[in-house]
Amino acid sequence: MANVALERYRTKRRFEKTPEPAPRRRRSTSGQLFVVQKHRARQLHYDFRLEAGGVLKSWSVPKGPSLDPAVKRFAVAVEDHPVDYAGFEGIIPEGEYGGGTVMVWDRGTYRPVDGTDVAAALRKDQLTFTLQGRKLKGGWTLLRLRGRHWLLIKRRDRYASTRDIAVSAPTSMLTGRTLAQIAADEGGDVAKAASGDPPKSARRR
Ligand code: MN
Repeated sequence: MANVALERYRTKRRFEKTPEPAPRRRRSTSGQLFVVQKHRARQLHYDFRLEAGGVLKSWSVPKGPSLDPAVKRFAVAVEDHPVDYAGFEGIIPEGEYGGGTVMVWDRGTYRPVDGTDVAAALRKDQLTFTLQGRKLKGGWTLLRLRGRHWLLIKRRDRYASTRDIAVSAPTSMLTGRTLAQIAADEGGDVAKAASGDPPKSARRR
């Protein structure tokens, strides 16, 4: 079957140059994977991804998720990614698309409320869901402004907080590494990666 859903992912990348996963459609064990990847490319951003229909629907969130329901975070819809991308932490070579350091910042499962059909909800410009991650939990909403522009908003529940989780929990949920440590271990640009890590004095651990 032609993999139309991942065609944009494929055409943006040179797979002989980048260690990113090949563009194949598949389902995870749960079928409801979510992942947030912290990505120090040209700009630091957080890639927020939800599994649906054998791919990861993806948004680039410049400031990352906020636990504060009063803070609406701007999110730009980007190309679908393969489900295997949820395991990718490492270096995209400089000069390639998205060149820089990628961290698996949080990962777990999600559940649309009331068994919503995720693809249908996204077509209707609003998806409400709960996250069961290490850092992100409870209710969230994705709301389309127009075109590729969305908002990511925490819902009011016991997991809501004014704590800045990007600062208090900055490291990889897979390996515990900072961006700088990932770059150092894997041959990336350490100084560039380090600029995406909060100052040590601000961290909880
Ligand atoms: Mn990215």
